[in-house]
Amino acid sequence: MATTELAKAYEPKDVESRWYPVWEKAGYFVADPASGKPRFSIVIPPPNVTGSLHIGHAFTLTLQDVTVRWKRMSGFDTLWLPGLDHAGIATQMVVERQLAKEGKKKEDLGREAFEARVWKWKEESGGRILNQLRIMGYSLDWTRERFTMDPGMSRAVREVFVQLWEQGLIYRGYYIVNWCPRCVTALSDLEVETETEPGQLWHIRYPEKDGGPGIVVATTRPETLLGDTAVAVHPDDERHRRLIGRPVLLPVLGREIPVVADTFVDREFGTGAVKITPAHDPNDFLAAQRLGLPAINIMDERAVLNENAGPYAGQDRFEARKGIVAQLEREGLLVKTEPYQVPLGRCQRCGTIVEPRLSRQWFVKMQPLAEPAIAAAEDGRIGFVPESWTKTYFEWMRNIRDWCISRQLWWGHRIPAWTCAKCDELVVAREAPASCPKCGGGELVQETDVLDTWFSSGLFPFSTLGWPDKTVDLQRYYPSDVMMTGYDILFFWVARMIVLGMRFAGDVPFPVVFLNGLVRDEHGDKMSKTKGNDVDPLELVARHGTDAVRFTMTALGAPGTNPALSEQRLAGYRAFINKLWNASRFLLMNLEGERAPSYVFEELPLPSRWILSRQQELARKVREALTEFRFDQAASELYHFVWDEFCDWYIEIAKSYFPDPVEGPRTRAVLLEVLEKTLRMLHPVIPYVTEEIWQRLPHEGESIMVAPYPQPEADKYDVEDEAAMGRVMRLVTAIRTLRATYEVDRKRRIDVTVVAPQEKDSTFITAHGALVRHLAGLGEFLVVAHAPDTQPTSPLGAAAPGFLREAVDGVELRVAMAGLFDVAAEKARLTKELGKIEGEMASLKGKLDNPQFVERAKPEVVSQARHRVEELTEKKAKVAATLRELDRAS
Ligand SMILES: [Zn+2]
Ligand SMILES: [Zn+2]
Repeated sequence: MATTELAKAYEPKDVESRWYPVWEKAGYFVADPASGKPRFSIVIPPPNVTGSLHIGHAFTLTLQDVTVRWKRMSGFDTLWLPGLDHAGIATQMVVERQLAKEGKKKEDLGREAFEARVWKWKEESGGRILNQLRIMGYSLDWTRERFTMDPGMSRAVREVFVQLWEQGLIYRGYYIVNWCPRCVTALSDLEVETETEPGQLWHIRYPEKDGGPGIVVATTRPETLLGDTAVAVHPDDERHRRLIGRPVLLPVLGREIPVVADTFVDREFGTGAVKITPAHDPNDFLAAQRLGLPAINIMDERAVLNENAGPYAGQDRFEARKGIVAQLEREGLLVKTEPYQVPLGRCQRCGTIVEPRLSRQWFVKMQPLAEPAIAAAEDGRIGFVPESWTKTYFEWMRNIRDWCISRQLWWGHRIPAWTCAKCDELVVAREAPASCPKCGGGELVQETDVLDTWFSSGLFPFSTLGWPDKTVDLQRYYPSDVMMTGYDILFFWVARMIVLGMRFAGDVPFPVVFLNGLVRDEHGDKMSKTKGNDVDPLELVARHGTDAVRFTMTALGAPGTNPALSEQRLAGYRAFINKLWNASRFLLMNLEGERAPSYVFEELPLPSRWILSRQQELARKVREALTEFRFDQAASELYHFVWDEFCDWYIEIAKSYFPDPVEGPRTRAVLLEVLEKTLRMLHPVIPYVTEEIWQRLPHEGESIMVAPYPQPEADKYDVEDEAAMGRVMRLVTAIRTLRATYEVDRKRRIDVTVVAPQEKDSTFITAHGALVRHLAGLGEFLVVAHAPDTQPTSPLGAAAPGFLREAVDGVELRVAMAGLFDVAAEKARLTKELGKIEGEMASLKGKLDNPQFVERAKPEVVSQARHRVEELTEKKAKVAATLRELDRAS
C-alpha cells in the first residue's frame, strides 16, 4: 500500500467507526479449531439482555480485549465467546412496565403469551449492549454468540438440573428467603440492597399467665410478633434465668409461648431477650430448627397478613404495625419506643422493603459440590490473581450454604418438574413426560417456578460450547485459559462456574481467575446512579474517543485496587494518542522511500542503537506485564517509551541526521522500524488509531490486528549503549534544568565547562561531546580535569565567581553567567516572587489557625488550603536556594 499523508489533527470519530466492520468482515475475530495453532480461550461475563454498557463492563472487557488481541497477535487461535444473560427479574420487569402502560398485567395475558411478549421485546430492543461492545472495539467471535435462553443452553440447563436431581443434590424444601412482595418472588442475596435507615425500636412486654411481669423484648418489626413461637434469652443471663422453661403470654393473640435459652442471644442488645419468629426472620428460622420450635407464617405473598394474624388478617404489614403498636399502648404492654438505625433490605429492582419469608423453594446441596472445588484451589489447579482472593474463596466454599435456585417468575428456565394430579408423584425429567411413571395418570402439572439466572450462567463456560454433546468446540476450547471479571461476582458467578464445571464438564473451567477492582470516581468514591457520580463510558467515548478510554481503562488495571477515574487521566491519554499521531505524521512527511530497515546495528550512531535497544527492553517488559495481568504496568511502559524516549528524545535527535547522506536514510529506517513495532505493541490497547497509522506505513500483511506481536530481538539489545545514552541524557537534562531555572532564552547558545577529575569520565564526555552540544544548544563545550579556581578543601571546588554549577554523575557542570542574564534583575525578580509567596502563605496559615474557618468551611476547601501551603513551602525553598546561588556566584 502506498503511504499517504495523515490528517493534520487526530479526530477519533473519523477513524474509529471505520475499522470494526473491516475486521469483522475479514473474519479476524473468528476462532478456527482447524488452524493448527495453539489455542487461547476465554468467555465473556455475559451482560444482561436489558443492560447497557456501564463503566464496570468497559473496565473488565477492555482488559479482556487487550489480553485476547495480544494472544491473537502472538500466534494463538483465540476464542473470546460473547453471550447475553436473560436476566430473569430485570427483563420481566421491563416487559411488565410496558404492559402496565397498556393498562394490562401479565396475568391478563397468561404465561405463554407473556413469554412470547418477552421474546418479542428481546428481538426488538434487547441486547443493545452488544452493539456498544462493538463500538468499544472488542474482538469477540460473534459467530459463536449465545443467549442463556437459547435452545442449546436451555437443554444444558435441563440436563444439569435432572442429573443433580438424580444424584440427590437437588431438593425441595421450606426455607426463609428474601422475598419481594411487589415482584412476588424470592430474591438472591445479590438482588437485595441493604442500607441502614432511621427507624424505631419498640420494647414490648410479654406478661406471665399469672399476672407476673414476664419479659420485655425489643423489635423493629412489631407486627411480626403475631408469628412468635418463643422468647429466647442467653442461658447465663441472670436477669431472665427465673423464666427459662416457663410460658409467657403473646400480646394481641394471648397465645402461650415458652421462654427458651440459647447462646446465640446477644445479651447487650435491647433487654437481652429476643422474640423468635421462625417464619419471618432468617436467624430465628435457624434457631427454631435447632430448638425444635414451630413456624407460623402470618403473611401472604404480597405481605398482607393472613388468617394466622387474628384481628389483623387482611391488613398490609405496615398498616397492621400501626394498629398493633396502638393496641399495645392501650393495654400498657408498650414499655418504650426509641429511635433506632435499622438495617433495611430493599429489592434491587423496585425498591420495596424485602420481607424474609418462609416458603417452599428448590435448593442445590452445595457441600458435596464444593469439596472438589476446594481441592482444586488447594492443589493449584485453580489460582487467583490477586492471590489474596484465595482466602476469601476458601472461607466461602468451606462454609457454603445450600443454594436457593427457584424464583417465582415467568421469565426464565422453567423448572423441569411435574406433579401427578392423581397420585401426587413428583416427576423430574428432561422433556415433559406423557404420563405418570407411578400410576400412569395422564394429568401432570408443571412446576411454575423458574431457575435463578445464575444457574444458567454458572454453566456458561461449557454450555456455550455445545455441552452435553462432545462438540469440536467443547473439546478444543474447554477449559478456557482464564476467567477475568470483577471481584463483586466471585461467589455469584465464578464459584458456581467452578463447582458446576468440575461436576459436569469433567475439569476446572479455567486454571486462573483474574479479579479486577471496581472503578471509583475521581475522589475514590463508589459510583452510583443515586449519587449521580456514575460515568457513562459511551459519553466518555464521544468526548475522547474509544482508544483514549481504552488506554485509560488499561492504565487503571492494577490488580488488587479500586482505581479512581478522573477527567485529567482521560485527557492525558487522549493527549498521548495525539502525540503518537503527530509523531507518525512527521515521520510520514519525511520518509524518502525507506521501507525496510537497511543498516548494520553496530554501525549506527549511539542514539539509534539506544532507541532500538530500548525497544527490545520494552517488548520484554510489556510481555512480562501482560503475562502477570499487570495492565497498568504495560500501559505505563508503552506510554513512557512513546512519549519520553521516542518522541521527546529520539525524534529530536534524528532530525539532525536527516540532511546527512549516510545517516539520513539509516535514521529514517530506524524511525520507521521503531514506530511500526511500537504500533503493533500498542494495538491491543488502542486498536483503532494504530490500524489507521499502520495502514499508511510500509508494512507486511493486511491488518495490524493479525500482524505478529513484537518479540525482543537479541541482536538489537545493548545494555552498554543504554547506559551510555542514559548518561548523555542526564548531562543534557542538567544543562536544560539550569537554563530553565534562570530563564535563559531557549535559542541562546551557552558555554559550558565540565570539570571531570577522573579520566574515564572525561574520555566519555569528550567522546559524546558533539551530541551533548547539539542537544543542549551549547556554544563552547570544554572538558577539563581541574578548573583553575578549584580550592584544595573541596574535591570539586567551590564555584568561581561568574559561574552557575550543577553536579551530575561525578562531574561538575559550570555555566559562564557572563551576559546570559542580568544578575541584578534576576535577583530582584526572585526577591519579589519570594515576597509574594510569603504573603500568600501567611494569609492561608491565618485562615487555617482560625478554628471557625476549619469547622465551618467545606472539608475539601480546608484540605485544598493545606495542600496549597505545602506547595508554597516547597516553592519558597526553591526560590530561596536559587537566590543563595546567585549571591555566591556574583
Ligand atoms: Zn421488587
Ligand atoms: Zn401418578
